[in-house]
Amino acid sequence: MRSTPLLSFTPRGIHCSIADVYIDPWRGVDRAIITHAHSDHARGGSGHYLATSVTKALMHARIGAELNIEAIEYGEPVNINGVRFSLHPAGHIPGSAQVRVEHQGEVWVATGDYKRQLDGISPAFEPVRCHTLITECTFGLPIYRWKEPELIFNEINEWWRGNAANGVCSVISAYSLGKAQRVMTGVDRSIGPILVHGAVANMNTVLQQCGLELPAWEHITKDTPKERFRNALVITPGSALDTTWTNRMKPFSTAMASGWMQLRGWRRRSNIDKGFVLSDHADWDGLLRTVQESGAERVIATHGYTDLFSQYLRSVGLDAAAETTEFGTDDGVDQRTDMVYSTSSVDPASTPLSMGRPETPTA
Ligand SMILES: [Zn+2]
Ligand SMILES: [Zn+2]
Repeated sequence: MRSTPLLSFTPRGIHCSIADVYIDPWRGVDRAIITHAHSDHARGGSGHYLATSVTKALMHARIGAELNIEAIEYGEPVNINGVRFSLHPAGHIPGSAQVRVEHQGEVWVATGDYKRQLDGISPAFEPVRCHTLITECTFGLPIYRWKEPELIFNEINEWWRGNAANGVCSVISAYSLGKAQRVMTGVDRSIGPILVHGAVANMNTVLQQCGLELPAWEHITKDTPKERFRNALVITPGSALDTTWTNRMKPFSTAMASGWMQLRGWRRRSNIDKGFVLSDHADWDGLLRTVQESGAERVIATHGYTDLFSQYLRSVGLDAAAETTEFGTDDGVDQRTDMVYSTSSVDPASTPLSMGRPETPTA
């Protein structure tokens, strides 16, 4: 057994000391591997980056053209000081990847953010075998079980169609990278036009340049005629919802698409009309399936319900631990969602954790 682990948690991020490479560091470092372009995982200030080509394009657009980023394809190995690194699809957003790290026969995988459902815009999650799995667990409680996306899109279409019939604009809040494009791709475009906020337009443009096919969309400008909004679906980051930006869209109905919409308290507090439970993260079953399929004998849980999730894994006989990171728990909602961890929203004691075996559906 080696004395220092292949990957360790340091004040700068997840570190491979043999190669001196960090995975999604939250401080500037010499060499970084980036799992995906969301801002809590892809940060500026590092000397050299390794990422998929889509993540590279997104990072240049979001952080800066001057970043030194080397693009590699999924599955393409890179050797650094005898350590073999490769990226594998994570199914979270376009370009997202898990990082596989191999040294002298020992394999670790750091998942970054991931989901097991297909979203129509990201390559499907690929299970990767490993000895140690570092998994996110944003939704690592048995109360989080996602419905089939088709059912959620039926709900979104029904809301949009009803609004359009009444001349009411439908304004949906979705993270500008990932969730916005997933919503655009999944809805019934015969209902009306898709109009987007500038932040979404920017991401759409970069992703289309990377070869992603998107349905027709229009960037909302000050010249967009008022009547254009009447049967439209407007896709915007949540930060624009409470500003004067939406004035011209009146009358309108608001909605949010996020895994957090599973929590009634969250929906109520966020002051929106409709919540759709559509997540870009794995649900409880997806997390457990991923742990199983990895074959890992040791699991390290990061961001989310890390303590409860690792506690559950130990109760079923796995070697599991929780680690603290500086990754956020956003899921299509561009604001801090830490408040959902308060017991006023979720009482861990009342969740059926002890009965939450993968095969046993719980209420
Ligand atoms: Zn993410
Ligand atoms: Zn994350």
